Amino acid sequence: MSALSREQIVELDKAHVWHPYTSMDTYIAEAEPLVIARASGSRLFDVDGRSYIDGNASWWSSVLGHNHPRLVRALGAQAEKLSHVALAGITHEPASLLARNLVNVAPPGLPHVFFSDNGSTSVEVALKMAVQYWAQNGRPERKRFVAFDGAFHGETLGVTALGGVEVFRRPFAGVIMDCLRVPSAADGYERAFAALEALILAEGDRIAAVVLEPMVQGAAGMRTYPAEFLVRARELTRQHDVFLVLDEVFSGYGRTGPMWASQHASISPDILCTAKGFTGGMLPMAATLATPRIFEGFFAGAERAFYYGHTFTGHSLGAAVALEVLRIYEEEAVLERAAVKAERIRVEFERLAELPGVTTTRSLGMIGALELRGERGYLERGGLAVCREARSRGAYLRPLGNVIYIAPSLNISDPDLEELLAIVRDSVHAVTRTY
Ligand code: PMP
Repeated sequence: MSALSREQIVELDKAHVWHPYTSMDTYIAEAEPLVIARASGSRLFDVDGRSYIDGNASWWSSVLGHNHPRLVRALGAQAEKLSHVALAGITHEPASLLARNLVNVAPPGLPHVFFSDNGSTSVEVALKMAVQYWAQNGRPERKRFVAFDGAFHGETLGVTALGGVEVFRRPFAGVIMDCLRVPSAADGYERAFAALEALILAEGDRIAAVVLEPMVQGAAGMRTYPAEFLVRARELTRQHDVFLVLDEVFSGYGRTGPMWASQHASISPDILCTAKGFTGGMLPMAATLATPRIFEGFFAGAERAFYYGHTFTGHSLGAAVALEVLRIYEEEAVLERAAVKAERIRVEFERLAELPGVTTTRSLGMIGALELRGERGYLERGGLAVCREARSRGAYLRPLGNVIYIAPSLNISDPDLEELLAIVRDSVHAVTRTY
């Protein structure tokens, strides 16, 4: 039972809470927000006890479902011992054990782990690491970054600059870094690769790193591309000694099938970023992994140390939970079991392509997406109507413009998955049959 009624909560919310990515005047005038009281597994429960299947695992993070009992226990046990201590020159068991266990499951050659707070900071760390590395290792002119059209790497000013979703970047034009951009591999990987190659041949000496979301550009609309692009981008960056940063914030932890999307291409980046599923979505914590070469580029003198570190770096609670996530992945065979569910998503989304008003569908691992007829773009509103329908049928979805997608927890139960897929089909149909 909540102490406040639904109406009271919404009233306070509308008076004081500024929601992200939300036009607040419309929200205040019109929204009847879900008011969630608790969650369990793949289900959210509102203050009236009504349940909704969490179709996007709470912004793609809750990979093991909500309130996994083992994560709740790990959190409680750690909270009784130590919640947080500064990680500068002090250490603790959860952070050191987590770093070792993460390295053991990471792509080869990335034995050094820098902890931070969220997906954005994990990429921000990568950018600063690359720039400072080159600055103090004989190539100070290597300062620029290359990113895809439609890229999304987070919210800080640094990573906003990498972002290629125009509407997110526009307000900050003139303030953010000027990045080099190549067409998305999702629009044809050969063309994208040719552009990347031309750019590196022309500007390679000034490029610090190429930053990519491997296999799938999430915020751009769950746009997938072939592993071949990654294989070739890895070869190219290695040849020209440009760092390859892979942002596995969304794609990691089995979202696309294997533990890391980079495994589709059997490659290791120079720097890998992980967050979201890293703590099973329970706590904000992230990690950035680097090669020995990069790590050792910060040796030899205090002025060469990496000048970066958040207050909550290596947070003990987050580390204890993240450690338990890795144990659960192994002991509950999360990836193997998800493969069967992923196949179900693939088959169903292929069928959804037959619905009127659906122009294309795609799937990769535990992601299924479809595009509604209309323009592509974050501000397109077709998806909202479908999500409203889904809500009335008992599922929480959030559109990306005209793209409707699901990215549920990897261990969603079979009945919940079937119900979610049926709700997607019925909701799309209810909207598009009037097209
Ligand atoms: N990188 C990618 C690929 C993401 O999808 C996101 C978030 N959607 C981020 C970075 C930013 O993560 P956070 O919201 O935790 O800062």
